[in-house]
Amino acid sequence: MRVVVAGGGLVGLTLARLLRAHDPAPQVIERMAAGQYVKRGFMLGQQGHDALAELGLLDAVRSAGRPIGARPDGSAAAIAVEVGRVLALLAEGLTVHHEHSVTGLREADGRIVGVEVEGPEGTRTVDCDLVVACDGFRSRVRSMAGLRADVAPLAEGKIEWMSPMPVEASFGMEYLSDGGHIGLISWPEGSFGWRTTDRVGREACLAPGIDALKESWSRLLPATAAGVAGLTSMDDVFYSEPALLTCPEWWRPGVVLVGDAAHFFGPETGASAGIGMADAHALARAIATHPDDPDEACRAYEAWRGPAVRPYEAGDPSRMRLEGASIPPAAPDERWPPAA
Ligand SMILES: Cc1cc2nc3c(=O)[nH]c(=O)nc-3n(C[C@H](O)[C@H](O)[C@H](O)COP(=O)(O)OP(=O)(O)OC[C@H]3O[C@@H](n4cnc5c(N)ncnc54)[C@H](O)[C@@H]3O)c2cc1C
Repeated sequence: MRVVVAGGGLVGLTLARLLRAHDPAPQVIERMAAGQYVKRGFMLGQQGHDALAELGLLDAVRSAGRPIGARPDGSAAAIAVEVGRVLALLAEGLTVHHEHSVTGLREADGRIVGVEVEGPEGTRTVDCDLVVACDGFRSRVRSMAGLRADVAPLAEGKIEWMSPMPVEASFGMEYLSDGGHIGLISWPEGSFGWRTTDRVGREACLAPGIDALKESWSRLLPATAAGVAGLTSMDDVFYSEPALLTCPEWWRPGVVLVGDAAHFFGPETGASAGIGMADAHALARAIATHPDDPDEACRAYEAWRGPAVRPYEAGDPSRMRLEGASIPPAAPDERWPPAA
């Protein structure tokens, strides 16, 4: 089975590493340059730890980060780690076609049989038996394949900051009076805070400025005080309007969705990456079990992952807030942006 991995983020690299013994080796196509990635505060949930253990990388990720919580066997429930460290560990020894994008799918007799790849040298076609869409939330491969994506915008906005100052706790989170939340993650080289906000757009959300932000965070979640104190500019503060993603079908002949291309959870789950890495783990096993039959491999992948992933989608606190009863208004001293 010739496999093309579209996207060399956490999930695509995990899959490619797990398939390193597969013949022929999968082709990994990544649009960003080598070493480039989206910096983010990051906790890697236990859902992804088995894949890392199989790759022999779990101890290295643990030593690069800090433990969060504990499972019954005493191991960490999650690891707070700078995401670039995990990406670098996964990429070791892999050939990735950086600065190349999957821009088209080739179809014959109702199945996807190849991809078009655009790079500095122009456009080329790669024939394959299975395209794995690891190209994230806005997956172009998913839409080119015509697989449905149900996107549910959340009622709230989100503000985040990244600071070079670590704080004592590796994790903290509190719910706010309106059902929103405020939290922190801290790894050895820095810290990250997030909170839900009124959905007012970037300009209005960032307008109160850095001093107001420091005051509010230190008061509502005192464990973040040293982290926000390390912020020097609003350039390290980001506003977004999150949405949830669920896809009723994860594959059609010749193409399969994994990771953020298949599902995206609300901010307080902290599980999207781990679940995506576990998708890659299951798909790698399915391909190893059905090396000559991509459809059977996709069927096995869906049968294994459905019972693991669908309950996370149904029980996502953000989805429950979206679909649930009316939410009380935020307490005035908790609101962001603060009332004028
Ligand atoms: C601010 C922020 C904080 C987060 N915090 C957490 C957290 O604490 N815990 C957690 O579990 N998750 C967290 N997540 C989510 C987590 O980062 C993702 O779940 C995880 O990175 C998913 O990996 P992925 O490989 O599926 O997708 P992505 O990381 O989005 O990778 C997709 C890759 O595909 C490439 N690509 C896209 N289109 C193409 C194309 N056409 N051709 C070739 N390449 C392409 C992109 O360049 C990218 O490298 C956070 C996300 C954000 C944005």
